[in-house]
Amino acid sequence: MRVEQLGDGEPEVAVVGGIHGDEPCGVAAVEQFLDERPAVARPVRFVVANEEAVTQGKRYVERDLNRAFPGDRDGATHEDRLAHALGEAVGDCTTLALHSTQSYERMFALVDELREFSRAVCPRLSVEAVVETGAAAGRIFDAVPDTIEVECGYQGSAKAAENAVQVTCEFLGATGVLPDAETPHRTDLPVFRLGDPIPKAAAEEYEVYAENFQEVLAGETFAAADGEAVVADEAFHPVLMSAYGYEDVFGYTAQRVGTLSG
Ligand SMILES: [Zn+2]
Repeated sequence: MRVEQLGDGEPEVAVVGGIHGDEPCGVAAVEQFLDERPAVARPVRFVVANEEAVTQGKRYVERDLNRAFPGDRDGATHEDRLAHALGEAVGDCTTLALHSTQSYERMFALVDELREFSRAVCPRLSVEAVVETGAAAGRIFDAVPDTIEVECGYQGSAKAAENAVQVTCEFLGATGVLPDAETPHRTDLPVFRLGDPIPKAAAEEYEVYAENFQEVLAGETFAAADGEAVVADEAFHPVLMSAYGYEDVFGYTAQRVGTLSG
């Protein structure tokens, strides 16, 4: 794990890339800020989490780091030990964790539940939506509770790398590290609560007709498996939905639960 900081003193703000080794956008963003070393008004910690997985171009070495928190100093796997070390490095910080997906080109934020800091910071980020995931064992929130995860776009794309730099800049603006950084002041940022996975029957070819975050109505055909329609039983907003992103689910249902402004 690479841990660096800009500014003097004990940081209360952190940016983490490389939790998943096959998502290069966050690593590139962290490296860019460490190369450019902008003058900071508050100290900030930068982390490339799973360097071994990054080097191997794999999501993880032994197990998914984002299912291994809070981790264990003497744990059996690389990621158990790394999860513990990451908690030690940034556990008390207000943290941005940079990710990318195979399902969506624009940015959105994920939190376990909205807290005071995330209500204030999320409307200052160029994200399409905020998704509350609820408690889910092993995720970064178990070691670094004040985390906002941002999905920056398609895994490995130039746009995701560009987005990661932009959202990091905005996050550092909103947290007072780079107080002059330009940030949006959203007044209409939708908040969704994550629901159930949308199962995908075994097939050769999949299609998805729905757009992420755009409501699918009851009775609507939103996907197909080998040409057979997949129809919504009830209305939902799709999240992380794609034809081939996951092996056995299309994505997840979500319900709109509110709006943030800031
Ligand atoms: Zn990820």
